Amino acid sequence: MTTQKKEVYNFQSEVKQLLHLMIHSLYSNKEIFLRELISNASDAIDKLRFESISSPLLYENDSQTKVQISINKAQRTLIISDNGIGMTRKDTIENLGTIAKSGTKSFLQSLEKQQSKKNELIGEFGVGFYSSFIVSEKVCVRTRYAGTKPEEGTLWESSGEGEYNVTNIIKKTRGTEITLFLKKEEEEFLETWRIKNIISKYSDHITVPVNIQNYDEKNKTYFWEQINKAKALWTLNKSSITNDEYKDFYKHLTNDQNDPLIWSHNHVEGNQEYISLLYIPKKAAWDIWNRDNKHGLKLYVKRVYIMDNSQEFLPNYLRFVRGLIDSSDLPLNVSREILQDNSITTNIRKALTKRSLKILDKLSKDSNEKYKTFWNQFGLVLKEGPAEDNENLSKIANLLRFASIKNNSAEQTLSLEEYISNMHEKQEKIYYITADSYISAKNSPHLELFKKNNIDVLLLSDRIDEWMMNYLVEFKGKKFQSISKEDISLNKLTEDKKIKNNELSKEMIEFLKRVKKFLGNQVKDVRLTYRLTETPCVLLSDSNEMTTQMAKLFSAAGQSIPELKYIFEINPKHLLIKKICLINDEIEFKEWIKLLLDQAFLAERGNLENPHEFISRMNKLLIQ
Ligand code: ADP
Ligand code: MG
Repeated sequence: MTTQKKEVYNFQSEVKQLLHLMIHSLYSNKEIFLRELISNASDAIDKLRFESISSPLLYENDSQTKVQISINKAQRTLIISDNGIGMTRKDTIENLGTIAKSGTKSFLQSLEKQQSKKNELIGEFGVGFYSSFIVSEKVCVRTRYAGTKPEEGTLWESSGEGEYNVTNIIKKTRGTEITLFLKKEEEEFLETWRIKNIISKYSDHITVPVNIQNYDEKNKTYFWEQINKAKALWTLNKSSITNDEYKDFYKHLTNDQNDPLIWSHNHVEGNQEYISLLYIPKKAAWDIWNRDNKHGLKLYVKRVYIMDNSQEFLPNYLRFVRGLIDSSDLPLNVSREILQDNSITTNIRKALTKRSLKILDKLSKDSNEKYKTFWNQFGLVLKEGPAEDNENLSKIANLLRFASIKNNSAEQTLSLEEYISNMHEKQEKIYYITADSYISAKNSPHLELFKKNNIDVLLLSDRIDEWMMNYLVEFKGKKFQSISKEDISLNKLTEDKKIKNNELSKEMIEFLKRVKKFLGNQVKDVRLTYRLTETPCVLLSDSNEMTTQMAKLFSAAGQSIPELKYIFEINPKHLLIKKICLINDEIEFKEWIKLLLDQAFLAERGNLENPHEFISRMNKLLIQ
């Protein structure tokens, strides 16, 4: 191997962009660089512990892992070193010259759009190693991978301006030592008390000791002082942990700057032995809608860190839950593949799913305000639940919130429990309508009968709703019913208002026949209706046909659908119908019927196949 081989490299363009953004927008919260560097050091020690399970030689006869911080005022340097796994020369180029995180590009773009929230977003994203350049004019990383020879060390240096260089060096101890050459105006970070403060603020929950070098004036000697507790919080007894400690730990775990809404900490014994600590955040992570979003719990086995983002312990619709699981039953050498096909995982996943739903139930009972926050952030994610998890369907349904006629607001706050307890005495089903928007659901002609009878209807307008309703069949014995479909349960409610054949005028019977004959198989049937009050006509789907919203979903997904045939219902009490009924001229009559049908289509679908024809026909009839 050639020693002193020095090479100059360019940063990946995303890194340059991130460096620029960070240096210019994080000036109010500079201190987080220390959190990031200590977190990396601790990760490196976790990795070493994990790797050494199969190769104990990696410890190089030194198993006392620690992070050490020392200050050199004369040289204006701050040095953070660890005896963790370290990096090879290749590692430094890959890890410190590029950003491996998926979604980085889209993240940077969203930052540019949301200037005002920049600080918050960057904090969440986890700025990582590069944050050292916020306070430093130059950064030197000396590192050596555990188990390699001293002469296989690497020096990585950069001033954060587009380039870095890499040199081979001799490094006796394994691990990484990072020297920050602080900018002149950042001398506050050379004060021991300041550093101690930052560490207790951000890094108390690091499970390895973090030591700072102190000077003893009396004896004129240096000594190391441990400044964090270095105890895994989740292993402690619940009663000995304060709320603030839980909150701090959450922030440490997630990089989220907000407090969590609620959490649950459990030591489980018996068939399975594990500890779980689950949190519900206040705010959705920036990438919750990314397809490759890395959600999931942090996994430990018998206190040893194994991996981040293990998705196997929670279903997808609960991907907003954060936290950790520490199992005593899984093998230490567990891999993602083993996790995926494992009865221990399956059992824990079942239990944690129930646990999460229970936390949410508790949240909904504890605080309306907090549950509203939760619903606004994660309601759409939870709505994936009915399709994904049939076993917990009723529990999920109980957590859903809706807009409704009576609630009279686009905000989704009504629970199904509340809906049922306010049902009309003759009402058997839970009525709902799906539409493209709240406004269009709220004003649908299908609602007229319900408004008149003082029956509440759930107004569904999220894209996922129609799909979700396929899986929500009933709640507490009450079936769900789309009101844009034909349905006999309504007969009971409208018995008295129903138009009996013998009450119908001869003209009306004749009229119905004429319309049927003219429309032929353009529609499934033509009927008189008792549903409408203010609208002359409406289209209904047959009870076993696809609804309009479902058809829209399918065609938006590029799927072909059979042509939908509707039942055309006409309101005989409407003035316009009474007027058309009297038209003898066949051509004029047909024009009016076409206009009515198009009106009904417009109300049902929100658009027409041929709007120009509709407009010119209407104008023609208006002039007459
Ligand atoms: P992240 O920690 O989210 O992966 P960072 O920017 O903080 O992102 O670090 C980038 C990578 O550099 C880490 O994933 C790790 O591989 C490597 N790294 C950083 N600091 C150390 C360290 N002290 N010891 C070993 N590897 C490190
Ligand atoms: Mg990091």
